[in-house]
Amino acid sequence: MKYDYEIAVIGAGAAGYAAAIYAGRSGASVVVFDKGMGGGLTMEAPKVENYPGFKSIGGVELMEKMKEHAMEYAEMKFGEEVKELKLLNGGVEVITSRQKYVVGAAILCTGSEHRKLNVKGEKEFAGRGVSYCATCDGFFFKGKKVAVVGGGNSAVIEAIYLRQIGCDVFVIHRRDELRAEKALEEEAKEKGVKFIWNSVVEEIFGKEMVEGIKIRDVKSDKEKILEVSGVFISIGEEPQNGLAKQLGLKLDENGYIIVDEMGRTNVERIFAAGDVTDGVRQIITACAGGAKAALAAMKAIGKRSPF
Ligand code: NAP
Repeated sequence: MKYDYEIAVIGAGAAGYAAAIYAGRSGASVVVFDKGMGGGLTMEAPKVENYPGFKSIGGVELMEKMKEHAMEYAEMKFGEEVKELKLLNGGVEVITSRQKYVVGAAILCTGSEHRKLNVKGEKEFAGRGVSYCATCDGFFFKGKKVAVVGGGNSAVIEAIYLRQIGCDVFVIHRRDELRAEKALEEEAKEKGVKFIWNSVVEEIFGKEMVEGIKIRDVKSDKEKILEVSGVFISIGEEPQNGLAKQLGLKLDENGYIIVDEMGRTNVERIFAAGDVTDGVRQIITACAGGAKAALAAMKAIGKRSPF
């Protein structure tokens, strides 16, 4: 079968870039599709301090470096969304928002997206006070009173960041203890982040912009209003598994694609890596998954591979 590219990587985050580098360097012709401008969720990290080789680096800067590196080995198609993958006899058809391609194998690196609260006002005020990324939008709330919803590492990091830029920050968490690391909790408290425990957001309200939230204490069932200009929702991620579902890939109970140790899915010629395969959400594990999936995919296109 004649291929337009031997390997298609779908999603240009850490896993996708690593897959592209490994596949390209192994001698495959590689294309990378991303519906946006690439970089994935790492672009939202104010600082990355656990990626070996960089004591401290901004998420944007790290992903720019990865992109430049991957561009040495793969063709990048930014702003081109993969709408569907079809299995062919001996290949995979990739149908994008622009055209169709035939490839030998595809590696899904589609990542995850921010989980939604699904409360009244959340959709309505998105971009008008409701945000899922403090690093991206925090600047607009400098010096204002804001709420961060969630109790994990991300929520606490966002709260510290917002505090740093002068916001009055309230973390609203549904339980009475955080899921976040103790060290982060202590740092947040030291910096003056306030916590509202055992509470859930029932509604986000305002006129043009967010003016406040209604929260309910889950123990006493009492409701109260907190006047805030911004609501940062940080309650975890959900895998972007639409293509995987279309293809009938096996998913776990949380919707992550099930892969073996080399990124193989239950469908021949289809591999997966990164956040769409687990909830670990670490750049280094995403890169490792991308690298392994690329090496395993070489075999699928009939090239020599030890895996
Ligand atoms: P997470 O650890 O899954 O935490 C999500 C938080 O949101 C939890 O506290 C959860 O409450 C709460 N939550 C979930 N659904 C909710 C709902 N519908 N309403 C209200 N609250 C809700 O997510 P994350 O903080 O995004 O982190 C994801 C992974 O990335 C974790 O493994 C984390 O350690 C990792 N991470 C690491 C770093 C780092 O610096 N190493 C930085 C960021 C993230 P409960 O606690 O009650 O379940």
